[in-house]
Amino acid sequence: MKTNFDFMMPSVNFFGPGVIEKIGQRAKMLNMQKVLIVTDSFLKQMENGPVKQTEASLRAAGVSYAIFDQVEPNPKIRNVKAGAALYKAENCDSIITVGGGSAHDCGKGIGIVLTNGEDVTKLAGIETLDKPLPPLMAVNTTAGTASEITRHAVLTNEETHLKFVVVSWRNVPLVSFNDPLLMLDVPTKLTAATGMDALCHCVESYVSENSNPITDAQAIQGMKLIGQYLRRAVANGHDLEARTNMAYASLLAGMAFNNADLGYVHAMAHQLGGQYDAPHGVCCAVLMPTVERWNMIASPERFADIAVFLGENVNGLSKMAAAERGIAALERISADVGIPANIKSIGANPADFKVMAENALKDGNAFSNPRKGSKADIIS
Ligand code: NAD
Repeated sequence: MKTNFDFMMPSVNFFGPGVIEKIGQRAKMLNMQKVLIVTDSFLKQMENGPVKQTEASLRAAGVSYAIFDQVEPNPKIRNVKAGAALYKAENCDSIITVGGGSAHDCGKGIGIVLTNGEDVTKLAGIETLDKPLPPLMAVNTTAGTASEITRHAVLTNEETHLKFVVVSWRNVPLVSFNDPLLMLDVPTKLTAATGMDALCHCVESYVSENSNPITDAQAIQGMKLIGQYLRRAVANGHDLEARTNMAYASLLAGMAFNNADLGYVHAMAHQLGGQYDAPHGVCCAVLMPTVERWNMIASPERFADIAVFLGENVNGLSKMAAAERGIAALERISADVGIPANIKSIGANPADFKVMAENALKDGNAFSNPRKGSKADIIS
């Protein structure tokens, strides 16, 4: 067992059905006077949806707010700039993000440019932020990215189609909310994609070079819960037990990768997401079995463990055969929830692979992958 490691946790997380009601009171405790709510137009309009509930709680607590509802999936620099302009025009002093990873990352991006400099592309990398962001809270509505508790802000440069990450502990929201009642109406395809993203966080954390005993504990429990509940959440979105367990698994997965980091699946998924504007969870899910089968020789024991966490019987099998069962289990869950089998389905064009492979190897997630590859490996 690794005996020396650090472990960082989110400041405060409220978890469980109904916790969204506490947001007004928390805004008050943080002395937020005028909040910029960062979300998208669909969630803003949703009847009794997460934005309406956030507004109601803020109003009840006497906290003023303005709404920026222009977040796009795979949030773009133009979204960050527009949000920051509205923040200034409305004299806001704080931010609440409402949505999935895109809303949280856009809100982090807005906070970054307000206090650390206007060109967010220059801040890509690890621990590049000198100054704290404005006070930030996050209301999470998908069980997948865990951006509501992470130090990552994933943004896309719409001119270069490059997805980049600003990784800093200053990005972690002060308070986050995971209320599974807000997730009941997530559409089937998004439930599948985000659930597979969370599974990928667990798998990549578990086999990462930077894993430690705490991240292992979180990733293991996350995998067990996702193996048990993702199919149920996809089959019936109103299954509150399945939604609650998926929300919890996603949170565990986030704490794990916030510390253990990820690997080539995420490094490559960012290229597909940036180049083709494809849903992040689908990019991860499509790549995961192929990348992990290639990774298998680096750590067959860990992949054999994964087979067991996902409910496979590996008794009597050799280590490599058991590890292969782990990969097969990943393929099966992906197929069962309706994820396409290859990257053609998201428009991938081999003419783009050379540049995307070069960029994948530079992505911060690549460095903790357990097996080291070349550009040719990534392309193949
Ligand atoms: P998303 O935030 O892009 O949301 C996708 C769609 O789902 C949106 O159109 C939104 O309106 C809708 N939606 C969200 N919640 C809903 C709800 N409760 N009911 C109905 N519809 C709902 O999706 P995502 O997968 O959560 O986020 C993906 C983004 O997060 C990507 O850009 C990815 O790179 C990033 N990401 C960030 C981190 C991090 O730590 N910062 C980690 C992984 C991924």
